[in-house]
Amino acid sequence: EKYTTRSLYGSDQFQATLPRRRAYAHKGDHGKGFIIGGSARMPGAITMATEAALVAGAGLVTAGTLQEIIPIIASRIPEAMFKILKEEDGLLVWDNHLDVSAYDAIAAGVGMGRSKQGEELIKQVLKAATCPVLVDADGLYHLSNLLPILKSRDAVTIVTPHTGEMARLLELRIEETLTSPFQHAKNFAEDYGVYVVLKGKYTIITSPDGKQVVDATGNPGLAKGGSGDVLTGIMLAMILQNQTIFSAICNACYLHGTSADLAVQHKHSVYDLTATDIIAWIREVYRMIS
Ligand code: AMP
Ligand code: MG
Repeated sequence: EKYTTRSLYGSDQFQATLPRRRAYAHKGDHGKGFIIGGSARMPGAITMATEAALVAGAGLVTAGTLQEIIPIIASRIPEAMFKILKEEDGLLVWDNHLDVSAYDAIAAGVGMGRSKQGEELIKQVLKAATCPVLVDADGLYHLSNLLPILKSRDAVTIVTPHTGEMARLLELRIEETLTSPFQHAKNFAEDYGVYVVLKGKYTIITSPDGKQVVDATGNPGLAKGGSGDVLTGIMLAMILQNQTIFSAICNACYLHGTSADLAVQHKHSVYDLTATDIIAWIREVYRMIS
């Protein structure tokens, strides 16, 4: 399949759909987001996602994570708020008292590990939340066992797999997924009624009704641990900022890739670029929009 048969997302669409800030705006206008993730072994993923969400413009962001990770996040981004989640042996577990009703959007899964208790946490969040839920990373690993719950969910769900994660969700080999990525992404989106962001050099964005757009921004500097976690934070921020879900997803991919492209044009190389560097360049992309 040729990418040219689908529309390529660009600067014009980003500029046209990104909501401008009202002069009388207050923080409540820019959404309350909740990011669930982290484990003793992986404190960085939720740290990067939280920082990216705030820099990308989310009104209020609460990180739901292990107590021991809170000082790490707070030292990088003091604007973050926190919810201490229940844990066992350094891994998050579901707690009946966790109330997810106060948020406008939730991102779940980054750096949480692959324990059975984590699966229960993702399951209960998908069942309880009436707001949009984005599932990424280890959350996608758990999703394989939660497909009926995904299908029965009324509210919006967004999944952001890379090719390996997509193949696992589809129970296909990676090579099979790569042969017809548009078709496979569309099948999954339609079968489960979810938005699918199939990440890679070209990222394919698919809506539950089968609409597809390609994002070609970004460079090999992103082929490193952490880039996906930054995208998750940016996407949460976009979902919180008053645009359609489809525009929010496209704009998140565009902002993420363009930040990385500017970073490589002006300061970094594709070798030394780190996921945290990308966050700083979000600011430059925003400065360029009129
Ligand atoms: P993850 O695999 O979850 O860490 O996500 C990686 C992120 O970086 C996704 O947004 C990819 O689209 C992006 N990315 C990875 N490799 C490349 C590449 N070679 N060119 C452009 N974007 C890339
Ligand atoms: Mg990832």
